[in-house]
Amino acid sequence: MAKPKILVIEDEPDILEVMQYNLEREGYKVVSCRNGEQGLSRIRTDNPDLVILDLMLPGMDGVEVCRQVKSDPVTRGIPIVMVTAKAEESDIVLGLGIGADDYIAKPFSPRELIARCKVVLRRGPLREQSGAGERVVRGALTIDLGRHEARIDDQLITLTPTEMRLLHFLASHPGRVFPRAHLLSRVIGEDAIVTDRNIDVHVRALRHKLGEQAACIETVRGVGYRFADAGR
Ligand code: CA
Repeated sequence: MAKPKILVIEDEPDILEVMQYNLEREGYKVVSCRNGEQGLSRIRTDNPDLVILDLMLPGMDGVEVCRQVKSDPVTRGIPIVMVTAKAEESDIVLGLGIGADDYIAKPFSPRELIARCKVVLRRGPLREQSGAGERVVRGALTIDLGRHEARIDDQLITLTPTEMRLLHFLASHPGRVFPRAHLLSRVIGEDAIVTDRNIDVHVRALRHKLGEQAACIETVRGVGYRFADAGR
């Protein structure tokens, strides 16, 4: 199998060097550039398997690059790991909200970098949520959206339609963090007059109903929620 190709867009030479060294040592093919405009054109011409994108770049910043990549049907499927200067909640939420697939906060260890890349590469691009009828099985948990049924082992659990959609959506993308606002628009709808915190109420109720399985829905502090990735 060909080595996965990773494009690193980072303007700080020292950080770029460390990333490049560690990624190559891990067996990835690494290409790089120093600013957003170049990065964007390399994404379009090189078709990398993964992009590591620094948020703060001279000229076009990482947010704009991400926005353009994710709004173009040709490049939308290319996973992006956003690199934030510090674990600024607002930066992380913004990045994930415009479609970044994951994030790492500076300073990060090489081990952390490699781990994030592996997870995102294994996961592939975010699939659009398919319609009714999709059945998701995660460990003891089975969620059948079409039949509006959720079970733990063989035990049926009673969920509201919102809880059902929320659980199905999270379980369809294990390991991926979703900001509250994103979950709201996915499971409740853009038009709903609710605050971001409203999702917390649904999560709390859902966890209560999941009982011993409640730990599968993880809180990512200051950001949102994710379904535990058992394979990680
Ligand atoms: Ca930078």
